[in-house]
Amino acid sequence: MQSLKKINLAGWILIGLVLGILVGLCFLGNPDFTTKYIKPFGTIFVNLLKFIVVPIVLLSLVSGMISMKDLKTVGALGWKTIVYYLGTTLIAITIGLIVGNVAKGWFPQLNTSDAVYEAKSSNFMDTLVNIFPSNMWSAFTSGAMLQVIVIALLIGAAILVVGKKAEPFAQVMESANAVFGKIMMFIIYCSPIGVFCLMVNTVAVNGPQVIGSLGLVILVAYVAYLLHMFITYSITVKTLGGMNPIQFFKEMMPAFIFAFTSTSSVATLPLTTECANKAGANPEYSSFILPLGATINMDGTAIYMGVASIFIASCFGIDLTLGQMITIAATATIASIGTAGVSGAGVIMLAMVLEAVGLPVEGIALILGADKLFDMGRTALNILGDGSCAVVLTRLQGKAEERKAAKLAAKAAAETPAE
Ligand code: ASP
Repeated sequence: MQSLKKINLAGWILIGLVLGILVGLCFLGNPDFTTKYIKPFGTIFVNLLKFIVVPIVLLSLVSGMISMKDLKTVGALGWKTIVYYLGTTLIAITIGLIVGNVAKGWFPQLNTSDAVYEAKSSNFMDTLVNIFPSNMWSAFTSGAMLQVIVIALLIGAAILVVGKKAEPFAQVMESANAVFGKIMMFIIYCSPIGVFCLMVNTVAVNGPQVIGSLGLVILVAYVAYLLHMFITYSITVKTLGGMNPIQFFKEMMPAFIFAFTSTSSVATLPLTTECANKAGANPEYSSFILPLGATINMDGTAIYMGVASIFIASCFGIDLTLGQMITIAATATIASIGTAGVSGAGVIMLAMVLEAVGLPVEGIALILGADKLFDMGRTALNILGDGSCAVVLTRLQGKAEERKAAKLAAKAAAETPAE
C-alpha cells in the first residue's frame, strides 16, 4: 500500500497505458465489447477535458497577459513564440520529407484505382477568414480554438490599455482562472483511468489487420517523429532553454502519453501546462505560449503531411520535383497552423497540401484506415513542441527581463546626483 502511494501521476498514467495495451490485446479481433463498454469511459474523460479547455484557454491567456503588465512584454513574448513555432515546424517538415524520400523505395505500391476521398473545403483564404470570430458565443460553444485565442488576445490587450478602470474586471478573470484551474486539476487526476479506457479500445480496434500493408509507412512516420523529438527538441531545450533534455522528456511524459492516447492536443492542454510548468516553464509565460501552441503548433502533423505526400505520390507513380517539395514544406507549415488540435484533423488539412502540388486528393483514402496510428504519434510530438517552446522562452524571456531591469537600474543610478 505504502509503495502504491509513492507512485506519482506520471507513473499512474504509464501504468494505465501498459494495462490498456495488455487488456486491448485480449480483445483483438473482438472489439465490440471494448467499444460498447470501455471506450465510453474514455470518451467521458475526453469530454471533461474538452469542456474545460475553452474556459482554460480564455482565462489563462487573459491572466497571462494581465500578469505581464504591459503590451510591450506581451508583444516580445508573442513574436518569439511565433518564430519558435514556425522554425521548429519548418525543421519538422524537412525531416519528414528527407526521411520519406530515403524510404520511398521500400513503400508498398497500393492499388489506386478505387481510392475515393471527398476533400472538405480547406483552402488557405477560408482558413484565414475563419480565425476571426463573428460571434463570441458561437466561438465558445463550437470550441473554435483559434477564434477563442483571438478573443482572449483582444480582451487581454484591452485590459492592459484601459488600466485602472479595468482592474475589477481583471480580478474577476484572475479569480475565475484560479477556480477553473482547480477544476482542471480534478480532471487531470482521473487521467490514468482515461488513458486506460482509450488505449484498450485503440489496441482492440486497430489490431495488426489495420496496420496491414501500411506498416512501413507508419514506421517511417514514427522514425521521423522520433528524430525530430530527439534531435530538434534536445538541441533547442539544451542550448536555448538551458535544460537537460532527458529531464525535459521525463517531466513531459504524462502529457506525452495522454496526447498519444487521446489524439487531441487541445484536450491534452491542461496536462501539457501542468508538465511544462513542472519542467521549469514560468506559468505566466506558459499560460500564453501553450494555448497558442495547442492550436497552431503542429510539428508532428507537418511531418505526417510530408511522409503522406511522398507515399501518395509514389503510389500514383509520381516523382516529386525539388520545387514541389518546397511547395509541400510551405503549405504543410501553413496547413499545420490551420489544423485544429483535435483527433484526425490533420487528414483534412492534408488535402490542402496535396492540392497545392497537384497530387490526387483521393490518395488520402489509401492511408485513412490507419490514421489513428499516425495521429497518436503526431499529437504526442505536437504537444512536446509546445512544451519545449515554454521552457525555451522562459529562459530567453527571463534573460531579456534581466537585461531590461539592469538597464533601468543603470539609468536610475546615472540620474541620481552623486553625493
Ligand atoms: N490530432 C492532432 C492534434 O490534436 C492534429 C492532427 O490530426 O494532426 O494535435
